[in-house]
Amino acid sequence: MPRTEELYARYVVPLSRRGLTIVRGKGCCAWDEHDKRYLDLGGGVAVNSLGHAHPAITETLARQSATLIHSCNLYYNPWQGELARRLVELTGAGKVFFCNSGAEANEGLIKLARKFGHETGRYEIIATTNSFHGRTMATLSATGQEKIQHGFEPLVPGFVHVPYNDLAAVEAAITPKTAAILVEGIQGEGGVYVATPEYLLGLRKLADAKKLLLLMDGVQCGFFRTGRWQSYQRILENTPGGESFRPDAIAMAKSLGAGFPIGAVWIREPYQDVFTPGSHGTTYGGSPLACSVALTVLDVVEREKLADNIRTRGDQLVAGLNKLVGKGAITAVRGYGGLVGFELEKEEPGPAVARLTEAGLILIPAANKTVRVLAPFNVTSAEIAEALAIIEKTL
Ligand code: PLP
Repeated sequence: MPRTEELYARYVVPLSRRGLTIVRGKGCCAWDEHDKRYLDLGGGVAVNSLGHAHPAITETLARQSATLIHSCNLYYNPWQGELARRLVELTGAGKVFFCNSGAEANEGLIKLARKFGHETGRYEIIATTNSFHGRTMATLSATGQEKIQHGFEPLVPGFVHVPYNDLAAVEAAITPKTAAILVEGIQGEGGVYVATPEYLLGLRKLADAKKLLLLMDGVQCGFFRTGRWQSYQRILENTPGGESFRPDAIAMAKSLGAGFPIGAVWIREPYQDVFTPGSHGTTYGGSPLACSVALTVLDVVEREKLADNIRTRGDQLVAGLNKLVGKGAITAVRGYGGLVGFELEKEEPGPAVARLTEAGLILIPAANKTVRVLAPFNVTSAEIAEALAIIEKTL
């Protein structure tokens, strides 16, 4: 057994099956310990928005770590203030809370809903089946997948699950105890299921009418991954009234740090001061180093027009995959930009991804027989063509 695998077998908690040791990367390519090259369109599960070893990230990490890595949230931190301003400008009037991961950002949404409903005795959150919101006790309780929850019961109370894209089911689930609705714009782990425009606009109306918070988990589908800043903008761009749609709060993480851990919760006016001093916090959240990296990611995405690039490359990928539908392996293609899923006819996604990896292409399995292509935003046309050729040949 190679040394790294031996160390894992002896010393690392066995939480997932691994078949590959990645030792370095550059752009959309990664290499294993035998120097075999892979095209990495798994992006570290929708994290590596700028690919591997982007020089601007390397430069920022070096410069900022030589200046100030951490100061803690008892003090002002110029980089956090600036990043909050940029996120508010991109999203809408409101404020931002910084944390360290997607689950922690969703914990922030859940606590926001609890605090918001507290005085009126409301605490329930309506979430959806097939969703994924994280692995902490509250976020796995919010997650609508039994396989994630199994073994950890009793779950955190206060979550009700209804089918995704079913507005009537949400309406029927509202009780006097309901405080909020929580949805992903695109269910990523669940198999790349996209919310319909009618669903999103309907949820907004329902939340307004019943005075509920509309919370969106944009951890995987947000941050330009669809070619627009947030997935709802891409979904609603041809729908009348779509441009003015806003949820009340959004959880962000993954692509925001391009590999450096950071999470954020944007909270819309007039709810931005529901959290008061002492009611929520974290030691590391929004550190000078994390915020500097996120500011650089935003700069690079804007300067290199990467939102447009991932949108075009996603269209190329979807068109190419659609040509393979019905040829014996792929039955459906879903998603946008850097969040595209293809559903397999017979094979389970785990073994299919293992065969693709062997053939030199790294992708990510999802639920419902789906394989995800989570390409970095700077993926090239040639790399998408290479991925399509490997998928066609292998599957
Ligand atoms: N929410 C969504 C939609 C996710 O896809 C994920 C992770 O895959 C999470 C939350 C949890 O994020 P993290 O693993 O950073 O805690």
